Parts: sequence; C-alpha cells; structure tokens
Amino acid sequence: MRVVLLGAPGAGKGTVAKQLTEYDGSIQISTGDILRNAVKAGNELGKKAQGFMERGELVTDDLIMDIMEARLKEPDCAKGFLLDGFPRTIPQAEALKKLLAKLNIKLDLVVNLDVPTDVILDRLTTRRTCSNSDCQEIYNIKSKPPKPDGTCAKCGSPAVQRADETEEAIKKRLSTYNEKTMPLIDFYQKEGLVKSIFSLSSEEIVNQVKAAVKK
Ligand code: AMP
Repeated sequence: MRVVLLGAPGAGKGTVAKQLTEYDGSIQISTGDILRNAVKAGNELGKKAQGFMERGELVTDDLIMDIMEARLKEPDCAKGFLLDGFPRTIPQAEALKKLLAKLNIKLDLVVNLDVPTDVILDRLTTRRTCSNSDCQEIYNIKSKPPKPDGTCAKCGSPAVQRADETEEAIKKRLSTYNEKTMPLIDFYQKEGLVKSIFSLSSEEIVNQVKAAVKK
C-alpha cells in the first residue's frame, strides 16, 4: 500500500506504521527517524537538523525534500510505503505530488489519526523510545513499559525519553502541527484521499486502514 499517515505528534503514526509493515511488506519511512539517526551519526544532515528538532520546530522543506526524493527512488519502495511524519507542510505536500507524478506512483490513501489533545499530551510525556537506531521500538511507561531495568524488550538497548519530549518542546511541536500540518487534511480532502480515524487502539486503526485500502 502507498499511504500517508497524518496526525499530531503522539497520535500513533509510528506504532500504526510499524504494524502495517507486517501486513503486506510495505516499508515505513519516518522522516523523524531518518533525522534522529543523522543527528546521532553527527553527519552534515544531522548538524543542520539538530537545532530545529530540539526546539520542536520543523526543519526546512528543502532539506526534507532532498531526503525524500532520494528515499522514494530506493528499490525497496516498490513494495509500497507508509509515510510517517511526511509531508508536514503544504509546500512539502505539493512537492510530493510532483515527485510522485514524476515517478509514476499513485497514493492509495491519506490516513488522518484524530486523537484528543489531552491524550496526546499524556502519551508524549510517558513515551519512551529504544535508543538503538535500527530498532526504535516505542514504549509507554503506563501502557507498554520497557523491561524493569529500562531497556528495550526487543534488542536490550536503553529505552529513553526523546530530546524533543520536554514540556516546552512538546507545546511547540503541537502548535507547529496545528499551524503547518493541519491544513494538509484539507489539501488531501480535495484530492478525495482522506480517511479520518477516531480511535485510541492501534489494532482498530490498522484494521480500518487495511479495509480502506482494499476498497
Ligand atoms: P517526528 O518523529 O515525526 O515527531 O519528528 C521529529 C522532528 O523531526 C520534528 O519535530 C521536526 O523537527 C523534524 N521533522 C520530521 N519530519 C519532518 C518533516 N516532514 N518536515 C520538517 N521537519 C520534520
């Protein structure tokens, strides 16, 4: 499937994308994961992105489009893809539209995960993420805790709080989402591609996405 996942930080895009990859072999492409790995590696991309990320701001559209153009041309994308955290601005959505037309690829669906703000805030402050860049399993200290010693149940690396999950950065990320990313729902609605899902259960969301893609 070729799907865009929209939703505020903490809406469950990453969790749902990971579960959908197991369904039909489509790959998850998370611009957030790509950028965090670059910051960790200390490479040129990471140096450019780090400040924006720590402040909870978006990195520039040009930087993101360079990453995504290269990524969508990789052969593994032929199996289908789940775009998690991209596009995030109208210019990115317009550039993606052009890029997909050039590559002769059609989107199946744009999923809008609609989750109340109080749930989002609670999730973001209790979220832990595996620090191993090849794993990045997502935990929640209340509903899905890592092992008692704070390590990842899958790979044993420490599960940590992300640098952009301080209260200040979270507030900034949510206001950035409302201002820059929410308008994409309207953008894709005009293309007849949006399915809004109101659910807090990732299993339920995954089932609804599978059903919508099959139609
Ligand atoms: P995420 O893990 O998707 O919440 O992304 C973490 C951070 O990476 C965001 O707060 C942004 O600073 C940056 N980022 C990720 N994806 C994008 C994007 N498509 N456009 C701009 N910045 C992004």
